[in-house]
Amino acid sequence: TVPAASPTVKSRVLIAGATGFIGHFVADACLDSGRPTYVLVRSIPKCPSAAKVLRSLEEKGAIVLHGLINEKEKMEEILKEHKIDVVISAVGGESILDQLSLLQAIKAVGTIKRFLPSEFGHDVDRADPVEPGLRMYDEKRKIRRFIEEYGIPYTYICCNSIASWPYFDNCHPSDVRPPLDKLQIYGDGNTKAYFVAGTDIGKFTMQAVDDVRTLNKSLHFRPSCNFYNMNELAALWEKKIGKTLPRATVTEEDLLAVAAENRIPESIVASFTHDIFIKGCQVNFSVDGPNDVEVSTLYPDEAFRTLDECFEDFVHGLNEKHLSPIDENTPPNPMVESLIVTATCA
Ligand code: NDP
Repeated sequence: TVPAASPTVKSRVLIAGATGFIGHFVADACLDSGRPTYVLVRSIPKCPSAAKVLRSLEEKGAIVLHGLINEKEKMEEILKEHKIDVVISAVGGESILDQLSLLQAIKAVGTIKRFLPSEFGHDVDRADPVEPGLRMYDEKRKIRRFIEEYGIPYTYICCNSIASWPYFDNCHPSDVRPPLDKLQIYGDGNTKAYFVAGTDIGKFTMQAVDDVRTLNKSLHFRPSCNFYNMNELAALWEKKIGKTLPRATVTEEDLLAVAAENRIPESIVASFTHDIFIKGCQVNFSVDGPNDVEVSTLYPDEAFRTLDECFEDFVHGLNEKHLSPIDENTPPNPMVESLIVTATCA
């Protein structure tokens, strides 16, 4: 086996999308790793939460650069002027194809040692969601093919699900605590998935950027401690809040119906939920191919935050009045009933 690289000189990293949901975990971890961290922002953030993230990154030492990844010449200028070694893109789902100009800039400059495109989910060459999720995966696949054709050194981060309750109608579920009224179970609730804390997505992404073992590979996150199905997830949450909740089945047909409404982003999330919890897209393939590496195998001494710990954080955030002791008379697994789903935009 090839040992991990232990570079003496820290790579200079440019992060696009650092004020976004995934990007800020990556930017935080990059700063924690001591690497010179440049964050690309396209304007002064109007949204107060993005402005707050940007301020906190600057306070930690991030260097803010202004620009858009779809401005090729500007990107070339930035990459050259700041002698960038590693580029990480965490732009949102609606901006995936904006990365084409960034790729052209990276190719033209020719000095980038690693590029991580905006992936941070499933292995898009293997997962096969229904529309409209498929459209986003087609765009991510297109970006992969250009990277490979241009000969740009890459790592694809396949980190699976965010460690939180997987609402089917919420695009950034980790911001929202699990339910306190009823637990919606997808299908029979027995299909498993991997859950990863945002901080661990950042931490392991930054471990990978200079590691020769992840060069031109898909890096899969399969932490055995966070491998749960919906029934187990529900039981874990009930244990945390000391209370059993009614369960309601969201059937395959329910999820497909929400996906078919083609409302963005809710229908995209419904199509991914269907792919994960009905079709088993995270677990229906093995990761021992020549282009696959797995995080727990590469970094066996590095712990993951457990889902138990993440749920504990949600409990701490709860108002005491929501909680009551376990009712011994309530059956541990109340009868599952059918429910009509109504998606809301988070
Ligand atoms: P967000 O929408 O939260 O953030 C996107 C960021 O990209 C913002 O900072 C935005 O800037 C910036 N951006 C967008 N377009 C451009 C551009 N042309 N030039 C420069 N910056 C740009 O994204 P997410 O965090 O939701 O998504 C990032 C990736 O993570 C996606 O690939 C998504 O599919 C994946 N993901 C995975 C999840 C999982 O559970 N595994 C959950 C959520 C996302 P501005 O502030 O100016 O808009």
